Amino acid sequence: MKYLLNRKGIKWFKKILLDKYFRKEIKPLRKEPENKLIDYLGWHKQNEDYFFVGLPLLSGRLSGKKKSLIRDLVKENDLNLRLTPNQDILLCNIHNKNKSKIKKALKKIGYDNLNDINEIQRHALACPALPLCGLAMTEAERILPEVLTRIENLLTDMNIEKTILFRMTGCPNGCTRPYMAELALVGSGQNKYQLWLGGSKNLQRLAKPYLQRMELDDLERTIKPLLEFWKKSSAENDFGDFINNQKESFIKNLLSEIN
Ligand code: SF4
Repeated sequence: MKYLLNRKGIKWFKKILLDKYFRKEIKPLRKEPENKLIDYLGWHKQNEDYFFVGLPLLSGRLSGKKKSLIRDLVKENDLNLRLTPNQDILLCNIHNKNKSKIKKALKKIGYDNLNDINEIQRHALACPALPLCGLAMTEAERILPEVLTRIENLLTDMNIEKTILFRMTGCPNGCTRPYMAELALVGSGQNKYQLWLGGSKNLQRLAKPYLQRMELDDLERTIKPLLEFWKKSSAENDFGDFINNQKESFIKNLLSEIN
């Protein structure tokens, strides 16, 4: 098609399309609505008689008491399950009359306040990596909770209230889509990660690689200068937007002072 368009031109193409094939008016381009990352967590009305509830799972792992209670709830109440691309689980077809019973049962396994889900955990993803994936060069899922706590602590220490959409993988295959995150670590050697920055909260923009082999121990000291500038310059912007609005050389300079 591209060679045809290049040779014959758009005018010719539109004429052929209208005269011979489509035969309707071609409307002007429509602006797409802004995309939002919707995760369906918490309680939602499914239809008049039913609810569904989205439960956050860190890295999609469900085990122990949580797993058996959810299995019992599904069996007893004839629920449907949906697994989401965000590695969470939705319990569907909850009849109105069963809602409070299920709410109580979920409370027992820690799902008591689904209106107040930890923001950084909510959208963070990590791939299985070591020991499950033969391609992994380094850890991801197993250390995700620890890495999230480190980022959260840093944000709290710096009095930054906003959160950051974070992703992590054990190798550059990028199975948890790190290349659209605001901040991502992509395994590139033992305990070493590429640092990707500048994706967006709605995952519609590609991030860029800024460092190739950052030691995990250096995470805080590497990103702290960026967070300081973010805090000073654009409290309104998300972190990824802030990075994206700066010149690449400016971000690189900030990083080179550390690495
Ligand atoms: S990103 Fe790499 S290490 Fe992680 S699951 Fe995919 S292939 Fe394996």
